[in-house]
Amino acid sequence: MNASRYVYLDYAATTPMDPRVIEVMNEHFRISYGNSSSLHSIGQKAAQTLAKSRETVASLINAKSDEIIFTSSGTEADNIAILGVALKNQNRGKHIITSALEHHAVENTCKNLKNRGFSITFLPVDKYGLIDLRELEDMITDETTLISIMFANNEIGTIEPIKEIGAIAKKHDVLFHTDAVQAFGKVPIDIEAMNIDLLSASAHKLYGPKGVGMLYLRNKGIREGWGKFIEPIMYGGGHERDMRPSTINVPGIAGFAKAVELAKNEMPKEIEIQTKYRDKIIKNVLENIEDSYLNGHPTKRLPNNVNLGIRFIEGESIVLDLDSEGIAASTGSACSSKSLDPSHVLLAIGLKPQEAHGSLRVTIGRFTTDDDVEYFLEKLPPIIDRLRKMSPLKGNKKK
Ligand SMILES: *Cc1c(COP(=O)(O)O)cnc(C)c1O
Repeated sequence: MNASRYVYLDYAATTPMDPRVIEVMNEHFRISYGNSSSLHSIGQKAAQTLAKSRETVASLINAKSDEIIFTSSGTEADNIAILGVALKNQNRGKHIITSALEHHAVENTCKNLKNRGFSITFLPVDKYGLIDLRELEDMITDETTLISIMFANNEIGTIEPIKEIGAIAKKHDVLFHTDAVQAFGKVPIDIEAMNIDLLSASAHKLYGPKGVGMLYLRNKGIREGWGKFIEPIMYGGGHERDMRPSTINVPGIAGFAKAVELAKNEMPKEIEIQTKYRDKIIKNVLENIEDSYLNGHPTKRLPNNVNLGIRFIEGESIVLDLDSEGIAASTGSACSSKSLDPSHVLLAIGLKPQEAHGSLRVTIGRFTTDDDVEYFLEKLPPIIDRLRKMSPLKGNKKK
């Protein structure tokens, strides 16, 4: 890094840890190192820390603490939810409904089930990335066991109509899973009001440690007739209600709980500040950069997400030039930016492959300042000018 300052605007890829989380984890590496299954007092100290953390995490989404399964990641939570429900209920039916813009953790898990003889409906989305509720309801058959639709999209920030999806799932007695990794701690979530049966979250998108996640799993029996509706996908000791065996990462989970506590306290303020920054960036870019447009919904979107289409140049070039000015942003999702295929999310909202390559995602977070936003808005236009002058695509440009 040669730039004199560094401005991190890639909070959707991962977040830096909050220093208050690091402090709590440091303490628990020392005092909660025991195996939470051990009978002795060191083990019991860890078990206490775990129980308290579980309560804190549950409280953010109006869940009960015994409905939280700690996992090693959001990806793992998605896999347990989808594979676990699909396999357990295959005698009931082998049909799953998901959307065309899921994170790879859901998309590829569903594709794996397809190879194993399941039938998967990938619901299309409109130009904003929203699913159509009527279409969802029409797709449900007697064979459908699970609907898995993300809470908010990691690339374009669109927030799906989760409460309405939950109501449809309940009406047809189908289980509802939502990948809420981007939404958890950023916008209010209530698993009761929204009829969510399974929900995935991850600590590292919320100023917590990497490698710690959770799956909310509605207590069995609450949905009449379903009984125990999920089976494990890993086998070992009986940790986490048999759903996620392996010695428990108590210090990491304590850090996750601290991150959740902070999110809970700071959410209203953070929504307000981040929405202000988000809308300022969108307005400024659309006004000052010709041939630019917004991807995703103008209002039904995460407070911290900006995704711009910049015509005639490659998003990758913009990201590299921004980096040399000390700004971290992204194009497509971090996972797909290493491949040359355009993002499936941007294709799903109707962009042509060439347009999809020209996307720039800017995601803000807790540590973003007024100066950071100003710096970005100052550095972006000359980069775009310069790249457009060199662009072989500029011949398409009318002016
Ligand atoms: C980051 C992310 C995941 C994966 O979470 P990990 O903890 O990194 O495995 C899943 N879904 C969405 C929407 C994400 O943004």
